Amino acid sequence: MKAWEKNVRNVVPYTPGEQPNRPKMIKLNTNENPYPPAPGVAKALQGLTGDSLRRYPDPAAGVLVRALAEHYGVPEQQVFVGVGSDDVLAMSFLTFFNSGKPILFPDITYSFYDVWADLFRIPYERQPLDENFQIRTEDYCKDCGGIVFPNPNAPTGIEKNLEELEKIIAANPDVIVILDEAYIDFGGTSALSLVPKYDNLLVVQTFSKSRSLAGMRIGFAIGNEKLIKYLEDAKYSFNSYTMSAAALAAGAEAVRDNTYFQETLQKIICTRERTKKELARLGFSYLDSKSNFIFATHPSCPAGELFEALKQEDIYVRYFNKPRISNYLRISIGTDGEMDVLIQFLEEYLRRV
Ligand SMILES: *Cc1c(COP(=O)(O)O)cnc(C)c1O
Repeated sequence: MKAWEKNVRNVVPYTPGEQPNRPKMIKLNTNENPYPPAPGVAKALQGLTGDSLRRYPDPAAGVLVRALAEHYGVPEQQVFVGVGSDDVLAMSFLTFFNSGKPILFPDITYSFYDVWADLFRIPYERQPLDENFQIRTEDYCKDCGGIVFPNPNAPTGIEKNLEELEKIIAANPDVIVILDEAYIDFGGTSALSLVPKYDNLLVVQTFSKSRSLAGMRIGFAIGNEKLIKYLEDAKYSFNSYTMSAAALAAGAEAVRDNTYFQETLQKIICTRERTKKELARLGFSYLDSKSNFIFATHPSCPAGELFEALKQEDIYVRYFNKPRISNYLRISIGTDGEMDVLIQFLEEYLRRV
């Protein structure tokens, strides 16, 4: 080891799902939306002029913040936007988790939390999910440096109800509770209604899943004005122009078209419920997902083998070779046609093995 390496900020990075690009692939591995963004988005992007690209974008991301504030019925001062919710979450860790006490998150959850905690030197304690993969409320009602988890949780897809969430938020008035609602639009109940009541609650959402804009990188947080002000201060100390002109135009347009948004969500929820039934017919069991993916396991066919067999067919799903979940596949919800191909392949494959 070189002497200078002792002073490197050494981190083990997060590994995102693969992004293959093959002509006829069926890509069900990163929870992207199978439908295109709202029609107005393409028009908004075409409308970007030389001037809007030549100049710096609005550092306050005004059009997007206003669209979100209007849509969710909150003051603009309660909205923070970033380059995907990953950026918003990272900025929130940096801003709010500084007490020196360990922050809490589940043992089975979004695998970026421990990476940010390590990057920012934040101590943490993983709280094991119970035997049914549920988050236990009591694990989060104790002295700590802060709390973060997705609701619905990933990769389980299980939602925790608002009443239980409120117990956790109320039990932790001295630290920030971050609820990562990346999948809330697919049938869950958002904790946004609790924001006026609790100044320690930060709700984070993304345009990557429900709004079909993973490629544009847009995420946001809603919380009380003081929290948002602290986030803004951290952001302006890091990079003033986080949101590109393209992201601002596309994002604002996606929020304005609520009809298209609701239609797309309904289609995905419908396909999810249909896919659950088909998987059950093939002998799979799965957790009760309120998200745009299903976490499923088969009693006689190991998940790792299924994952490889599917890949041979250019059908990509996600497999986590980790304790407790190494026999599960996380299958994103695609179009009905894509799910039909998946089910048909699984049916034939299971007959053969
Ligand atoms: C997808 C996802 C995110 C990040 O999404 P962005 O594309 O960065 O907005 C954050 N949290 C969870 C739980 C996710 O699944």
